[in-house]
Amino acid sequence: MSVDQAIKFVCDELFDPTINHPEIGEKPKNIAKNFRVWATEMSHTGNLLELLNFLDKSQSPVVFEEQVRLGITTITEILPEFERKFANELEDRLTKDDLQVGMDYSTRMIHAICGSYDLRSGGILPVWDGAGSVDFVAIKATLSGGTYENSWIESRKRLKYFMKAISGNFSESYRDNAAIINNPQKPVLAFVREASSSRFTYYGRFFLLSIQSEEDGSKWFDLASWDDGMGQIAYITDVESSLHHKVKASQRMDATERRKRLETAASQPGKQRIVATAYQRNPDVIAEVLYRANGVCESCGKNAPFERLSDGSPFLEVHHKVPLSQNGPDTVENAAAVCPNCHRQEHYGRAKWPH
Ligand SMILES: [Zn+2]
Ligand SMILES: [Zn+2]
Repeated sequence: MSVDQAIKFVCDELFDPTINHPEIGEKPKNIAKNFRVWATEMSHTGNLLELLNFLDKSQSPVVFEEQVRLGITTITEILPEFERKFANELEDRLTKDDLQVGMDYSTRMIHAICGSYDLRSGGILPVWDGAGSVDFVAIKATLSGGTYENSWIESRKRLKYFMKAISGNFSESYRDNAAIINNPQKPVLAFVREASSSRFTYYGRFFLLSIQSEEDGSKWFDLASWDDGMGQIAYITDVESSLHHKVKASQRMDATERRKRLETAASQPGKQRIVATAYQRNPDVIAEVLYRANGVCESCGKNAPFERLSDGSPFLEVHHKVPLSQNGPDTVENAAAVCPNCHRQEHYGRAKWPH
């Protein structure tokens, strides 16, 4: 048994009797034809089974009702026989973990790996885990051609990839764009092809370096190879809290033991790549709040502790009472100019402006 036999089985028993029935309507015929093409492009029986299960669950009532009306075998009827006949190879499926860098994959197999059986869904294919979080995202990038030209910034390592746009609007909140933007710790699997080629080549896992905007309002992702010696990336908040916990553990430790450990410790710290979300703050808000404070901390009422060497201005920091991370507005009313001590207290001690 092989995937070819499995494909032949579903064509002979399911798709062809539907498509070739003399009384079949135009619409169900076209839908059945479309999925017949999907079936013939599956490279593993397990992927074909997933496609059939998808069709069974989400099957177009147009096709189903037509099959029932004409007495043609339906997918629901064919599935148990399929599973019996090909029992030994149902587990045989291509997943994202089987992908090999440099290998070519058909568009429909890329979609099948992502569980998305609709070619109109665009170039970004987010895949969710059972808990509703993004597991990974696959992208199909066609180089050259078109108004918004995807290209290698550095061959195989840095990819310029335009965001999903609807009617020329490149919104970061579109589901597909947000899947990449909001999950920088999850890999973006890059499938790239030249405009002339029908198959995509897999270039491995990438991650989002930055979002770039063009003057015409278009936006693109600057994606860098994850596997290219960059190592694992972490969130800055995770890095900070993990260090905090390790310090706590060290403090609980016997001092003699700690000193023994210090003696053999490496004096050059290792490095880690981190991801941080930076807000594009309004400079006018900062300037206006500093003007309002006039060199006096708006929390403790004392003068700024020192002057900036660069310009002699009193050193105060502009803090958001309701943090931007909690959707606080970037406004003069929500901001306060505070001395460094009071600022740290707002974040780590008892806050004057609780949130
Ligand atoms: Zn203060
Ligand atoms: Zn602050």
